[in-house]
Amino acid sequence: MTTAQVIDHTQRDPWEIAVTQFDNAADAIHLDPNMRVILRECQRELVVHFPVRMQDGTVRVFTGYRVQHNVSRGPGKGGIRYHPAATLGEVKALAMWMTWKCAVVGIPYGGAKGAVVCDPKQMTLQQLETMTRRYATEIMVLIGPERDIPAPDVNTNSQTMAWIMDTYSMHHGYTAPAVVTGKPISIGGSEGRNEATARGAVFTIIEAAKHLSLDLEGARVVIQGFGNAGWFSAKLMHELGATVIGLSDTQGGIFSKKGLDPNRVEAYKRETGSVVGFAGTDRVSNRELLELDCDILIPAAIENQIDATNAPKIKARLIAEAANGPTSPEADRILRDRGIFNIPDILCNAGGVTVSYFEWVQDLQNLFWRENTINARLKEIMVKSFGDVLETSLKHKVDMRLAAYMLAVGRVAEATLTRGIYP
Ligand code: GLU
Repeated sequence: MTTAQVIDHTQRDPWEIAVTQFDNAADAIHLDPNMRVILRECQRELVVHFPVRMQDGTVRVFTGYRVQHNVSRGPGKGGIRYHPAATLGEVKALAMWMTWKCAVVGIPYGGAKGAVVCDPKQMTLQQLETMTRRYATEIMVLIGPERDIPAPDVNTNSQTMAWIMDTYSMHHGYTAPAVVTGKPISIGGSEGRNEATARGAVFTIIEAAKHLSLDLEGARVVIQGFGNAGWFSAKLMHELGATVIGLSDTQGGIFSKKGLDPNRVEAYKRETGSVVGFAGTDRVSNRELLELDCDILIPAAIENQIDATNAPKIKARLIAEAANGPTSPEADRILRDRGIFNIPDILCNAGGVTVSYFEWVQDLQNLFWRENTINARLKEIMVKSFGDVLETSLKHKVDMRLAAYMLAVGRVAEATLTRGIYP
């Protein structure tokens, strides 16, 4: 990965940002001080160092993490990412964000997250499988269908989940599909899970556009990141009649004033490895991409992309955070003062974990739903959650992030308080 093209997200510890966001919400809802000290920490943080024999016979030791922030409302839930710059602080932040995300859409999970420090783009499929199976074995002290259920995240996919499911099942001596979500359909995955993060984000964009009287037909859209969330967001926005004018991946961005067909860009990326160089486009950096003149900006890559230095230059009217943690608290203040409407990550990208919940329920019942049932239930949850957050935002005159946090922190605090402090 060429870090030069992506804004360096190692500069600021995401955990510090996550705690600041939580503190803002705790202040706003006058959270009980005892509850504040509990929710300010992660309940469990596992760090593992494990050897993997590489193809040339040498042994490499990888570092991995699995963190559970809070499991008062149900088992831990959250993805596993493979990234060369992954840190414990990042995984803790992502776990805390999962807690709020599950609470804001009202699904019965706590927040968890995992990562392995590695560069999957430099590894063979065989190395990835071996590393994944050993990592799965190392975190088996925490995961399980009733305990903590991983899912895909940055640089992991349904194949990664299949390996984890198989490894867990081999250790336990029976097939346990519900130990992970985001699996292939053939082994208990759910219809609609691949597109779910983007589909959920688009449902929130449609609701926000209604609120802002923004016509989506012909609206100019810029999307940062062309992984699962970015690619499907581009495809769905294009299908809605919006004009996708900018796209990017880790190699850089592309811009076309007259619009791009995301399907053709995806085919080009599959062939060449990047969106960069797609015919009829100008090349822009990831930073320039965020500042393009557009109506809707969808950050769909990684953390810390919009900060105090570029927030004043953003031209979009609406930001939809398909990524986790793309915006710093300072940038939030700037965007709010500039009247830019931001659909926060914990609401905007909750479609992924919502369909993960549907997948888990289907696995536990051995009863599978049709795709239109999945999409209809996803829509119901996203539209209702957006409405609840918007109502809170208007009632308390706060931005959408603080409103989402106020609802989420309130729900988690209530569950934690109701259960009481053990022993
Ligand atoms: N990795 C996704 C997220 O950040 C999905 C998590 C899940 O489905 O458990 O929301």
